[in-house]
Amino acid sequence: MSSSWTRRDFLIGSGAALAAVQALDHFHPCCAMAADAPTAGSELFELKPVADGIYAAIAAPRYKVNCNAAVILTNDGVVVVDSHSKPSAALALYREVQSITKQPIKRIINTHFHWDHWQGNQTYKEAYPDLEIIASQRTLENLTRPGAGNGGIPNVDIQRGMLPKEIEQLGNDLASATDPAQKMRLESNMRQTQAYMAELANFKPALPTRTFDKTVSLVVGDREIQILLLGRGHTDGDVFIHLPKEKVVATGDALIDWMPYMNDGFPEDWVHTLDALEKFDFTHIIPGHGGVMPKEHLAFFRGYMADLIAAIKSAHAEGASLDEMKKTLPDRLAVKYEQGMSKHPLGRYRDRIGLNIEVAYGKVVGKA
Ligand SMILES: [Zn+2]
Repeated sequence: MSSSWTRRDFLIGSGAALAAVQALDHFHPCCAMAADAPTAGSELFELKPVADGIYAAIAAPRYKVNCNAAVILTNDGVVVVDSHSKPSAALALYREVQSITKQPIKRIINTHFHWDHWQGNQTYKEAYPDLEIIASQRTLENLTRPGAGNGGIPNVDIQRGMLPKEIEQLGNDLASATDPAQKMRLESNMRQTQAYMAELANFKPALPTRTFDKTVSLVVGDREIQILLLGRGHTDGDVFIHLPKEKVVATGDALIDWMPYMNDGFPEDWVHTLDALEKFDFTHIIPGHGGVMPKEHLAFFRGYMADLIAAIKSAHAEGASLDEMKKTLPDRLAVKYEQGMSKHPLGRYRDRIGLNIEVAYGKVVGKA
């Protein structure tokens, strides 16, 4: 089961090797400058108003990726959806939030257990000891369960174990790099990785304090905030945050503006979960990664997943092997999806399609 593997284990185990590891870890020339920028909040995040008192904190591309956050102002404190990959990134956003409101941050919601969505919880907990951290019951379990996948407390130890190797590899790449732009990018990635390792050395996990196992509607000050549990998708514990009055939904990674990451996911359920989400009344999507999108993007993203599954099933029925699928399907699906899935420097179609096919194949036809 790939769910018991980390992303790196999966890649290395599957023989996809370093190139794919690097692609997923967001080695990209476009990121060199952003990656090297000082970590002022305004350079890590752009706070975009989405509705009255609702902001999307859109993460700048970084080698050590951050997720987006949704910031919901209420007259009973601020609610922040997802807390990024590290305390320093959460601190950067916290300072940005303080520039728009003096209200305390009283609640965090973690959409799922992946490392880049919860590892900043600590920052808010230290600033506000009474902080409420909301998640699904399953996400709380995944955060503490060894082998849950690409996040949680056990995964922090796995990362700690792997970072020295990553730094060594970056050093080797740097020693052999000749192109000045590539050298600059590698130097920046090295600095980010060293800083990230130092942060993880002092990492104190702040786990959810309030969990749900079915959809609830919370009244927080003057806002209604619905926590939707609609089924398995990107993980088995995804929640969507729906603001019915403002017609906004924050989706975590169950709906993003990049190619999906599927290793801990349930592709066929995911399509149905997105069907269920579509029935709600909203106009704006704050995704886990990428930019704010109109509701119509849901159909595009779900279409990719559904077409990928259908293509794998029919190729399998015709006797095609996984290797053959990895040769033929990327170009076939590209016609509909390459452009729309490659809008940002990270998580682009060609970076992820091979791994998506591999993972979906394993989960859908069960032969991996
Ligand atoms: Zn995720």
